[in-house]
Amino acid sequence: MIRSDKLIIMAVVLLTSIFPVDLLTSAPPERHGMDGQFSGKQGEIVVVRVPVDQQTSAVTGRFLNRTTPFFPEASGGAALSYIGLVGVDLQDAPGTHELVLDVVSSAGHRRLSYNVLVIKEKRAVQYLTLPKDKVDLDEDNLIRVKTEQAQVRTVLEAVSERRLWAGDFLRPVAGPVTGAFGRQRIINGQAKNPHTGEDIAAPLGADVAAMNDGIVCLTADHFFSGKGVFIDHGLGLYSMYFHLSEVSVKDGEIVKRGQVIGKVGASGRATGPHLHWGVNLNGARVDPLSLVKLSFARPLPTVQ
Ligand SMILES: [Zn+2]
Repeated sequence: MIRSDKLIIMAVVLLTSIFPVDLLTSAPPERHGMDGQFSGKQGEIVVVRVPVDQQTSAVTGRFLNRTTPFFPEASGGAALSYIGLVGVDLQDAPGTHELVLDVVSSAGHRRLSYNVLVIKEKRAVQYLTLPKDKVDLDEDNLIRVKTEQAQVRTVLEAVSERRLWAGDFLRPVAGPVTGAFGRQRIINGQAKNPHTGEDIAAPLGADVAAMNDGIVCLTADHFFSGKGVFIDHGLGLYSMYFHLSEVSVKDGEIVKRGQVIGKVGASGRATGPHLHWGVNLNGARVDPLSLVKLSFARPLPTVQ
C-alpha cells in the first residue's frame, strides 16, 4: 500500500470518529439502540443531527425511498451541524431499515449509513357510522374524490427548499383529541384506511391557528375533508386543517405561527364539529402531536 492510501484511510477513520451522528427521537427518553441502530415508532418523527465541517453545503437523507432535506443548525458559514426531521410513516413496515445520509462538502462527499428500527405501534380500532352516500360513493363522487386526491398528492410532492418554520409547534385548537392518529377505522362495517391525523373536538366556530410559520399552498372544499387549509412549512413539511366551517386565508398567503386560518366546522365527511389536523413530512404521514413534542437541544437559528 502506498503512503497516500494509508493517509486517506487514516483520514477517513479520523473523520468517522470526529463526526458521529447523533439521533434523537421526538419522544423522550431517547431510544438509542446498540451499534448505531436507532428507533422510532410508526408515525413518529426522528430528529437526526449530523456534525459537519465548515465546508459542508448540503445534507440529504434517504429513508424508505423518501428524501429528507437537512438544514444548518447555525446560520451562515458558522454551521457545525445539520438537522433533519425524518418521518416514519404510520404504515412503514416494522423492522430495521437503512437511513443513508449524503453530506456534500468542498472537502469531499461523504455517505453515511445508519439503521433505524421501526417499531410497531398498537392502535385502537374505531367504529363509525356515517351516511351511506358518504361511504359507498356513486360514480360522480368517486371521480371527484380521485381528482381531489391527485390534487393533494401534487401539492404534497413539492418540496420548498427553505425552512419556513421556526421554534415550537402549536396545537391549532384547544380541546380533547377524539380520533387518535393511526386508528384503524371500520366505517359502516367496512374496513377503511387508517386515520392519518388527530381529531380535536372543539365547538363550531372556534378559531383554528397555524401550527407554525409557512405559506398557504392550498385552500379547498373536498368531498371527505370538507373546507381545508394546507400549509407548506418548507423542506417537505406540510400541515392540514380539515372540516372547517370557514377559511380565512388565501392560496399563497404567508402565515405566522398562531395566526387564525379558519374556524372549526363539520364540512365534508364528519360526524360533528371537530378539527382534523394532519401532517405530511416528505411523504410520510406522521402524528402531528409528535411535532408538538419535539424539543431541540440548542435553539434553532431564526429563519431569514
Ligand atoms: Zn380526522
